[in-house]
Amino acid sequence: MSRDLTAVLADMVAFPTVSSAPVTALADYIADRCEAAGMRVERYESEPGKCNVVCTAGPMTERRTGSKDVSRPGVVLSGHMDVVPVVGQPWTSDPFTLTPRGDNLHGRGACDMKAFLAAIVHALPKLPLKHLKHELVFAFTHDEETGCNGSRLLVEQLLAEGRALPTSCLIGEPTSLGIFRMHPGHAVVRITCRGQAAHSSKPDLGRSAILLAGRVLGALERLAADWRTTSADPVLAALLERPFVVLNVGTIHGGNAINIVPDRCVIDVGFRPLPGMIVDDLVRELTERVTEVHSRDVEVELQRVTPAMLTPEGTALEGVLRGFSRAPQIGAAAFATDGGNLERLGLNTLVFGPGSIDVAHKADEFVPVAELYRAVDVVEAVVGSRCV
Ligand SMILES: [Zn+2]
Repeated sequence: MSRDLTAVLADMVAFPTVSSAPVTALADYIADRCEAAGMRVERYESEPGKCNVVCTAGPMTERRTGSKDVSRPGVVLSGHMDVVPVVGQPWTSDPFTLTPRGDNLHGRGACDMKAFLAAIVHALPKLPLKHLKHELVFAFTHDEETGCNGSRLLVEQLLAEGRALPTSCLIGEPTSLGIFRMHPGHAVVRITCRGQAAHSSKPDLGRSAILLAGRVLGALERLAADWRTTSADPVLAALLERPFVVLNVGTIHGGNAINIVPDRCVIDVGFRPLPGMIVDDLVRELTERVTEVHSRDVEVELQRVTPAMLTPEGTALEGVLRGFSRAPQIGAAAFATDGGNLERLGLNTLVFGPGSIDVAHKADEFVPVAELYRAVDVVEAVVGSRCV
C-alpha cells in the first residue's frame, strides 16, 4: 500500500534538512522507496551527513563518446533535498509539521521543493519501471540552497566516471506550473581591503582599510551601472526582466574598535552572469575596476560560482510540460538552480514545478494541494512520454 501523497509530503517536511544540517535521513527515506520500487540506487557522499542520490531504471544510457552534441533519450528528474533555515521567521505553525489550511499545505520545504520530491515518490508504484525503453534517472541533491554545491560535486563525480545521463531534465522547483528554460548564474567574490593599523589619535600614522573600502564601493557602483547599460543578446532580453549582469554588495565587515585605525575590511559581492558569459572575464573586469583604486592593498578572490542555464526552445520535454503549464509562454527564472551545473553533463533542463517561488523561503511557506497532485500527473506523463 502506498502512502497518501500528503502523508509522503508530511514525512519529508518532518526531516529538518536545513542546509547546515545532515540530509542523509531524507536521502535514505527517498532511496529506500526507489529501491523497493525496483530502481538501482547510488549514493554519492560528499562529506559525512551530505549525499546526493541517483536512482535509475531502464536501460543504462550509453557512456559518453567524444561528441557532446548527441541527444540521449530518456529523462532526468531532479530536485534538491535541503531547505532554507526557519530561524527568526514568524511561523504561525511548526515549520516541520505539514499543516493544512484551506486549500494549502504549510511547512518548510512544502513548495521548495519537497512537493516535487513527494510527487516522485508517490508516483513510483504507478510508473512502468520494468518496461522502460529509455533510462529514467532521479537525481536528488544536497546543499542547493547554499550555492548548488551538491549538484556541482555530483556532476564532477559523474564526469570523472564518464557517466552519461539522458539529455532531457526536469527540475521541479516551484514555478506555479510555468515553464522556465533559463536563469542567470550567481558568482560570489570576496574583496579584501588592507590598511595599516594605528592609534586613532594619530590616524596619519596608519591607513584606513575602511576608507579604502569606501572607494572600492564607489568603483563597484560605477561597474554595476555600466553592466546595467550593457545590452544582452536579444533572446535573453526577451526572456529576462533584467537582461544584464546584476551586482549586489551583500556584506561588509571591517574594523575592531573605535580607537584603532582599521587594517582590514572585507566586502562580499554577488553578481549574476547571463548564459554564455565567461565568469572569469567578468571577475577580471571587476578586479580591474576595484584595484584601480589602490591595487597593492585590494585583493579579489572568486569564492564560488553557480552557473547560468539556457535550454533551447522547443525540446520534446517542453512539449509534454505545455500540456500542464499555466502560462502560454516559456519564461526565465530569476533564481539559480542545479540546472546550471547539470548543463556540464550536456543536460537540457526545464524548471517546472508546484508551488510559488513567492512564498518559498518565507514563514508559512505552502504548496496548493491541487498543484501537489498535478505534479504527480506531470511525473507520470514525463516518464510515459520520454522513457516508454
Ligand atoms: Zn529550491
